[in-house]
Amino acid sequence: MMSKSALQRSFTRKHRIATVPPKRRKESGNLTVLPYPSQQARAKVALQNLSLQYKSNARPLLALDDINLDVKAGEFLCIVGPSGCGKSTLLHLVAGLQRPTCGHVFVDGKEVNTPGSDRILIFQELGLFPWLTVGDNVAFGMKMKNVPHAERKEKIGHYLRLVHLSQFKDSYTHQLSGGMRQRVALARALAAEPDVLLMDEPFAALDAQTRDLLHDELERIWAETGRTIIFITHNVREAVRLGDRVVLLTFRPGRVKREFDIDLPRPRFLEDATVAAAAREILNDLREEINKSLEAQYASHGATL
Ligand code: ADP
Ligand code: MG
Repeated sequence: MMSKSALQRSFTRKHRIATVPPKRRKESGNLTVLPYPSQQARAKVALQNLSLQYKSNARPLLALDDINLDVKAGEFLCIVGPSGCGKSTLLHLVAGLQRPTCGHVFVDGKEVNTPGSDRILIFQELGLFPWLTVGDNVAFGMKMKNVPHAERKEKIGHYLRLVHLSQFKDSYTHQLSGGMRQRVALARALAAEPDVLLMDEPFAALDAQTRDLLHDELERIWAETGRTIIFITHNVREAVRLGDRVVLLTFRPGRVKREFDIDLPRPRFLEDATVAAAAREILNDLREEINKSLEAQYASHGATL
């Protein structure tokens, strides 16, 4: 067995600063010729020169600036960054809920313009329907897509088994704990059989024990289903516990500051020394960005005093 320090060295050797190639675009009339077609074909999700500026405030706010990122099929990618750095915005762009100011989002080489059932967003508030049973919540998306009754029934059974909630099929969501509700949301998302799961701080409101359990379950489900996951969190340990790769965003505007390959064996545990060492490494970089975010907060408070 490798000693702790050897493992730490192995992590340190392996983590690398992002070397995102400059992805130039050639404009020709209305036609945008995109470079690196082979790379695009390989990436499940490709973000190219992605920027988003909010215009609704008195002053325009550049939330994301020139993000370039490829996510491989079946990859578990975690994105971390301080509050307000544009993490949710980035996920909304991939979900097709918002349009970028500049740049492109591709899924399987096809540009994203609208939401689609190939990408499902799961967030902390869950959006479960309290008037429906657990089973009917899971079936909701399938019903919308006119999936036949027998197939729906089979899939409800399958996905509730996957999240260990079979015996709660006929319960209502208010009868469940927070962790169980989060698993219902996961089952509902999986039942739509999306290629890409977009998760926006889904476990942030859960207690530590429930979160541990959900980490185990999500890792197992990911391994069993081969889905591509983009998982947002501000918790660096959680990112290292789950991710094949962790991307760190800068504070406003959100840019890719650094990427870390997490080449640690699975299953991982939050309390593993190797997980802690990797998290510390990332936290050093993140701290700089958190400080910038605090300074910005103080400055804006100062301005209103
Ligand atoms: P994060 O998820 O990393 O906390 P967000 O993506 O929610 O960050 O927001 C990024 C920045 O954009 C923040 O400064 C936020 O205040 C701002 N923002 C988010 N949504 C809107 C909006 N609809 N209109 C104007 N500004 C917004
Ligand atoms: Mg957010």
